[in-house]
Amino acid sequence: MGEATHKILVVEDDRQIQSFIGYALEQDGFCSLSANSGHSAMSLLISEPIELLLLDLGLPDCDGMEIIKRVREWSDMPIIVVSARDQDREKAAALDAGADDYLTKPFSATELLARIRVAIRHLRRQSGEKPQAVYQVGELKIDMEKRLTYLRGEELHLTPMEYNLLALLFKNCGKVLTTQYIIREVWGVGYGSDTQALRALMAALRRKIEKNPAKPRYIVTEIGVGYRLVDE
Ligand code: CA
Repeated sequence: MGEATHKILVVEDDRQIQSFIGYALEQDGFCSLSANSGHSAMSLLISEPIELLLLDLGLPDCDGMEIIKRVREWSDMPIIVVSARDQDREKAAALDAGADDYLTKPFSATELLARIRVAIRHLRRQSGEKPQAVYQVGELKIDMEKRLTYLRGEELHLTPMEYNLLALLFKNCGKVLTTQYIIREVWGVGYGSDTQALRALMAALRRKIEKNPAKPRYIVTEIGVGYRLVDE
């Protein structure tokens, strides 16, 4: 399955951004469709074999969030949200509603295409028969069957919680995970929003895997939203 077969729906009411995205996708061999309102987006989503959705949150006739919720009722297609710089809350809410990633305007074509490739890779992994057991990013490696982690070939000594956090990030490599999502997955439902505990756990994990925890190379902070394990 070549990348050219992926049909991407670009929902954006700003004509300039719409044509910038359309051009970038075309140059990279992607096939794209465009919609400039929530209404036309929904009718294309129902009638066309869309495989990835690039969605502007601020649409003239509806909130992009509504589209995320509706699509998630029937599809696992990757959804990448496009939003303005000062909408951290919205980004987190969009991710919690089921979006896979977000791009902040203005963004470059390189950034856009990189995010799309990550999303498509995840789609392939999900549809693969067997979940991967060993993942590696740079010099950081995890073996999920054996529950072992390595840095530069040496075994890391992580606590069970640190391991769970790192494994979660590896399973979602390249994707931004919201603080709420991480807390729910690592501590479980009912743990509320103990962001302090997550910050402490993250600091401990970074001390073990990052050369300079203040300038992390592997786990980056997405300010106001969450964390992302860098996909190389
Ligand atoms: Ca808009």
